[in-house]
Amino acid sequence: MSFKSLTLSLAAAALFASGAAASEHESHHEKHWDYAQNGPTHWKEFSKTCGEGHHQSPINIVPGKTVSLNNEYALHLDEDAHTTAKVIDNGHSIKVTPKAGGSIELHGETFRLLQFHFHGKSEHTIDGKRYDMVAHFVHQNPETEQLAVIAVFFKEGKNNPVLDNILGNIGEEIRIDPQDLLPPDTQHYYHYIGSLTTPPCSENVQWYLLKTPAEASKEQIEAFRKYYVDNERPVQELHDRKIEIH
Ligand SMILES: [Zn+2]
Repeated sequence: MSFKSLTLSLAAAALFASGAAASEHESHHEKHWDYAQNGPTHWKEFSKTCGEGHHQSPINIVPGKTVSLNNEYALHLDEDAHTTAKVIDNGHSIKVTPKAGGSIELHGETFRLLQFHFHGKSEHTIDGKRYDMVAHFVHQNPETEQLAVIAVFFKEGKNNPVLDNILGNIGEEIRIDPQDLLPPDTQHYYHYIGSLTTPPCSENVQWYLLKTPAEASKEQIEAFRKYYVDNERPVQELHDRKIEIH
């Protein structure tokens, strides 16, 4: 290999490496979606589905306009997994990726926990009301690649030690049991089919919104909002969808 071609291939390798890093830490030279200048009304420029999809998330839930859950879609949670997890600030949220997460079972299929992350206010609203924060637990069926997201709302209340562990260790690896973030009652929830709430806004995502919120102290909510205060997509039209209640 000549010196010139070696230099070129090193340059290509550097480009490739920075391209890989851009997925987590955006390059400042390239236009990328955000919650400011390139916010939700511009997301269709990054993915058509964000502008044209008819099954988008989040939505407003009107509890009086729900139907009973089809039992096939009952949620079986098994998030009790003591594991190590990487905590990162990915430029859109604080994201936790467990090495060996728990799982949920829906209509006989197992969906594995891939990651969970937080929004500074809830994205879904209940009768127009936003909760103080929300955690989204993103699961995937490894065979069909379908996604299922459990939303855990947070309201101001008791200090939550798991949140301290996460917020105090951004960029680090922690020991965690994702179950410790769940509220005491996980048996009551809203279910509907929606999308990712960030580009590419991909649809056919099974959403489960736990009715009982978890708690976080005022200081913890403020600590999170020092990172992200407005990382919520506005609510989307329901169109032909039904919201199920359990
Ligand atoms: Zn989210």
